[in-house]
Amino acid sequence: MDRYAVIGHPVEHSKSPLIHAAFARQTEQQLEYGKIQAPLDGFAGTVADLRARGYLGANVTVPFKFEAYALASELTERALNAGAVNTLSFKDGSIQGDNTDGVGLVRDILHNLKFPLAGKRVLLLGAGGAAEGVLGPLLEALPAKLWIANRTVEKAEAMAGRAGKAVLVPEASSFEALAGQVFDVIINATSSGLSNDKLPLPVGLFAPEALAYDMMYGREMPFMVYARAEGVQHIADGLGMLVEQAAEAFYIWRQVRPDTAPVIKALRES
Ligand code: NDP
Repeated sequence: MDRYAVIGHPVEHSKSPLIHAAFARQTEQQLEYGKIQAPLDGFAGTVADLRARGYLGANVTVPFKFEAYALASELTERALNAGAVNTLSFKDGSIQGDNTDGVGLVRDILHNLKFPLAGKRVLLLGAGGAAEGVLGPLLEALPAKLWIANRTVEKAEAMAGRAGKAVLVPEASSFEALAGQVFDVIINATSSGLSNDKLPLPVGLFAPEALAYDMMYGREMPFMVYARAEGVQHIADGLGMLVEQAAEAFYIWRQVRPDTAPVIKALRES
């Protein structure tokens, strides 16, 4: 049986095994997908162990995406742009690193939520690994404006600076400095929801018919509460992104593209 796993710390909460098992059933692929908690100082050792045991690939989650980037012997352009890796493929003595988070987010917004990005004013909140991963694919969707706001402004500025190759150079600021701006799509890529912290966002940021997207999922996040209070009708969580980034990893490994809609539906219902 071909074997894969998600590596993280913690990893107990991960829905990836459920998602990949559903993809495998649907596409009639013979594979096993487990979850492995690596010691915080033992990511490289865990990967070496999986390779020695014949695993064919792994997904990588918090906090190892940057280590996975450093460990990979080959990087795709998406991974290079993101500076982080969430999908590893082990073949012929090499470790290929890719990043499917960005394509997952963009596919969820465009195809599942049917919300356009081209020509839209987009605000990305956060400048951590998740924000880095989605910046390139967001820029490729050709928004009219892309603004990055982060608690640590220097990180937002550095991210905007690194996006130098793109047609559109993103703007960067603190949350407070957003006052007076208006956006069609606001994506929360901070982990502030984990601690239930409210972001210090000014009022009036949402254009009429705007989309508020929180990458976190599983419950109503403070960012969603804020968006609702601002009168936003289109509010989404990150469950669709989770399934879409997994589908892209599945495609990389198996060259078969699963249908994500029934898997998203089943996860929501559970
Ligand atoms: P990181 O730790 O790399 O980055 C965290 C980011 O959140 C930084 O920008 C940080 O700001 C900001 N932040 C954290 N706490 C607060 C706070 N209390 N107030 C304001 N800003 C805060 O995490 P990731 O980027 O890897 O992940 C971010 C979130 O995205 C996670 O919650 C994760 O679950 C989610 N995610 C969802 C995915 C999906 O498929 N749905 C995929 C990937 C991630 P600063 O720089 O100032 O520290």
